Amino acid sequence: MLSGKLNKIRTFALLLIFIGFGIMYLGFLWPKAMPIFFIFGMLAVFASVGIYFWIGTLSTNAPKVKCPQCHRVTKLLGKTDECMYCKAILSVDPKHAPMSDHDVKQ
Ligand SMILES: [Zn+2]
Repeated sequence: MLSGKLNKIRTFALLLIFIGFGIMYLGFLWPKAMPIFFIFGMLAVFASVGIYFWIGTLSTNAPKVKCPQCHRVTKLLGKTDECMYCKAILSVDPKHAPMSDHDVKQ
């Protein structure tokens, strides 16, 4: 998992909510097993909410960097991540860093 981590986790959390509601919906079709479906559905929804909180924490702790390509402020998660807007690879590791004007002059 290299790129756009925050967005990918967010997509996963959203998917989990739909799965949770899907499971609960199945409970209506099969009334005898309804409590079981509801428990699993609720678990999926709660897990998703937990992931959302986790993303929030990650997002506030992630350092903000200005993207060299689109010049918008994006968040860097881990050592290498993708710009949220233009998908440029951003890295704090110098060997992955895109050449800046400074490097070109040297
Ligand atoms: Zn960008």
